[in-house]
Amino acid sequence: MLPLRRLAAASGVRRGRGLASGIPREAADAVVVGAGVVGLAVARALAMAGREVLVVEAAPSFGTGTSSRNSEVIHAGIYYPPRSLKASLCVRGKELLYKYCAERGIPHKRLGKLIVATGAAETVKLDMLLSNAKENGVNDLRMMEGSQAMEMEPELRCLKALLSPSTGIVDSHSLMLSLLADAENLGTTISYNTAVVGGNVGYNGLELHISETKELQTDSLESHVPPQLTLLPKTLINSAGLSAVPLAKRFHGLNQACVPTSYYARGCYFTLSQSKSPFSHLIYPLPEDGGIGVHVTLDMNGLVRFGPDVEWINGGMDPVSCFLNRFDYTVNPTRCSRFYPVIRKYFPNLKDGCLEPGYSGIRPKLSGPGHPPSDFVIQAEDIHGVPGLINLFGIESPGLTSSLAIAEHIVSRYL
Ligand SMILES: Cc1cc2nc3c(=O)[nH]c(=O)nc-3n(C[C@H](O)[C@H](O)[C@H](O)COP(=O)(O)OP(=O)(O)OC[C@H]3O[C@@H](n4cnc5c(N)ncnc54)[C@H](O)[C@@H]3O)c2cc1C
Repeated sequence: MLPLRRLAAASGVRRGRGLASGIPREAADAVVVGAGVVGLAVARALAMAGREVLVVEAAPSFGTGTSSRNSEVIHAGIYYPPRSLKASLCVRGKELLYKYCAERGIPHKRLGKLIVATGAAETVKLDMLLSNAKENGVNDLRMMEGSQAMEMEPELRCLKALLSPSTGIVDSHSLMLSLLADAENLGTTISYNTAVVGGNVGYNGLELHISETKELQTDSLESHVPPQLTLLPKTLINSAGLSAVPLAKRFHGLNQACVPTSYYARGCYFTLSQSKSPFSHLIYPLPEDGGIGVHVTLDMNGLVRFGPDVEWINGGMDPVSCFLNRFDYTVNPTRCSRFYPVIRKYFPNLKDGCLEPGYSGIRPKLSGPGHPPSDFVIQAEDIHGVPGLINLFGIESPGLTSSLAIAEHIVSRYL
């Protein structure tokens, strides 16, 4: 960690207006809150645009939040409503990501995926997905009969399938490492174990309250967390993932009508205990409420995992627990009893007892159970009226795929 008193000097921030209330105040150029894949991509893009960037990360390392708890799939852009940010940023992000991975030697594979209909009623939904994808500019999908799909994948059972050749997988850790290296080579400073605990925003400028993570106590939650440093950034990107909404709620002066309600949905994965993968493509059932179905993904080593399911988390988390990432990531082994019947619809040879608890991730959602899915929300001055502040809310899937496009969008549109 960079001790806070050295943070300013190391990141090129300028000591400004003295010590108000004994708390040092420092001017800064661009501050990114959160070193997940999106925060790192944004930091890199800002640095490439010539900005002096400071990334403030509450955890001891980068990518310890949702960015390391996902399927690592490079999505094609099939599911999202046409003209939504998810659709456009996923399609653009996929293109940028494949190019970036190829240039930097980041492990990735364009495996292709099959979305499968296992009952007659589902085949209509495949047709709908095909036309939705076309509207999103995804023109390489191929509808196939079950027999053709089963020839490609002998362990698969389905009536019809939609092949997406441009879906793939990426090693998300290597991706983040590369984004971080790019940003640092361009002068970006990253301060770990450093939490943003709130701030003041308005026409007089942005004030960001910073504290060493170790000073955060969950019992001080709703009360004021005393900051150890106040930063005065020209530009502030709130890319705090699961904490983005709770953090924005602590920005005094921000019109709270602009801050959406957050919902959280855990997604658990189970791994297959056999070493050889039964599939060479990613296999997806049709989407379900809150997610895109318990699918088969492969990692870069060919290991198979099934998931994620959708488990809505009732009751909110207090903000400081969010900042400390104290979400419950336990995978309850008994949940596998729900996985077997779902998976056997398309993989009937799945043997009893061969699913083992893997890991889980939590989706930062803006819509609750039974609601229509929400879009990414990228809020700047045109929405909330605060110059220099950009909030990223609801960056759930396909946030990994879209990360480079989100960064491009922010820099080209708002800076
Ligand atoms: C189960 C699951 C599966 C998914 N699968 C895919 C997939 O296959 N493909 C895909 O494209 N997307 C997928 N996603 C979505 C993708 O993982 C996310 O969209 C992406 O990782 C979000 O990155 P982020 O940087 O916004 O958030 P995060 O990775 O959560 O990063 C936020 C960072 O902010 C830090 N932070 C929080 N509060 C503070 C604070 N107060 N001060 C300082 N730092 C703070 C956190 O410590 C964290 O490091 C999936 C998500 C889930 C949950």
